[in-house]
Amino acid sequence: MKKLIIQHVSKQFADVHALHNVSLELEEGSMLAVLGPSGCGKTTLLRSIAGFETPDAGSITIDGHTVFNGKTNIKPEQRKIGYVPQHGVLFPHLSVEKNIAFGLSGSGQPYKEQKAQRVAEMLQLVGMAGLGKRLPHELSGGQQQRVALARALAPAPSLVLLDEPFSALDAGLRMALREEVTATLNQIGTTAILVTHDQEEALSMADRVAVMRRGRCVQIADPVSLYKYPADIQVARFVGEAVTLTATIDNGHAHSCFGPLPLAPGCPLDSTSATIMIRPEQFVPGAPAEQQLTGHVVKTIYYGHNALVHIKTDARFGAQDIQMRVSGAHTYAPGDVVGLKIVGEVMAY
Ligand code: ATP
Repeated sequence: MKKLIIQHVSKQFADVHALHNVSLELEEGSMLAVLGPSGCGKTTLLRSIAGFETPDAGSITIDGHTVFNGKTNIKPEQRKIGYVPQHGVLFPHLSVEKNIAFGLSGSGQPYKEQKAQRVAEMLQLVGMAGLGKRLPHELSGGQQQRVALARALAPAPSLVLLDEPFSALDAGLRMALREEVTATLNQIGTTAILVTHDQEEALSMADRVAVMRRGRCVQIADPVSLYKYPADIQVARFVGEAVTLTATIDNGHAHSCFGPLPLAPGCPLDSTSATIMIRPEQFVPGAPAEQQLTGHVVKTIYYGHNALVHIKTDARFGAQDIQMRVSGAHTYAPGDVVGLKIVGEVMAY
């Protein structure tokens, strides 16, 4: 059975289509990232699933139960959803323990022990054992986010929704927490949706990624397929660097100023005016004489672990501006002459 089924959900605020006919499904135990630029409807989608927002149309089914369909609108607290919002996640006046226990049901003595045990389990799970008595302001940003996750997971929700949970953290902590959170969710087999505008976060954490644009879900795919076979040029650019060229398509190959290049599956079979997309890491450097392509370096943007080398190809290769990704160990100076070949298939639109 699917954990979540969203069918044709729309939501309009005045003249803004925050969600436009969005449909998607989520497998039990998987993580879906919802990726898109600011204002594309990510939070509205999450809030609609949680029950904080009422869609204008469509249906939402969780664990086979319809929680929304126009006639039915189950209250948020009955949807068994754990929600980790973007900001202001913890109650500042409550200790870590009390924050985690907040969503646990039952009051009075009989439940006290059960709750304490669950809180201890959750603290252990998120690597915070021994810090239960602290107040939120006595924790680092990363620890606060871990407590927020523990609080969301404590009632054993059917589905966890994470709304840009790492956006306020510095780069190092963000990377560490991404791994920790993925491992924690995998460990307990929780199904989760992660909202983010960070492509690296989406590709590295999720089993599948839904890309949204202006209220629409434009592509849903696993990270590798999304990166290799983006549905259009805008998606290609949103999930990574992309070099684009005009080409003609004939006989399974794209013909551009770079000569014939093999096409990825599903591309148009014939076209006199296609745009092809090549990822910077598909350009591989080598000795100029032996390569398909030659050009000279314009500039290099260094990222530490890798670098993006901006190259102007020679006139016989169309004097094109391209970017080649190389390991950070290589150095390229402006004016260096480089030979390149293109490996793998290219996308055409
Ligand atoms: P961000 O990444 O900036 O959080 P988002 O992708 O989560 O953006 P939403 O917050 O879902 O986007 O908003 C989608 C659109 O709906 C935006 O144009 C936003 O201004 C609008 N919107 C959202 N909530 C409301 C509201 N309560 N009233 C009016 N307009 C709203």
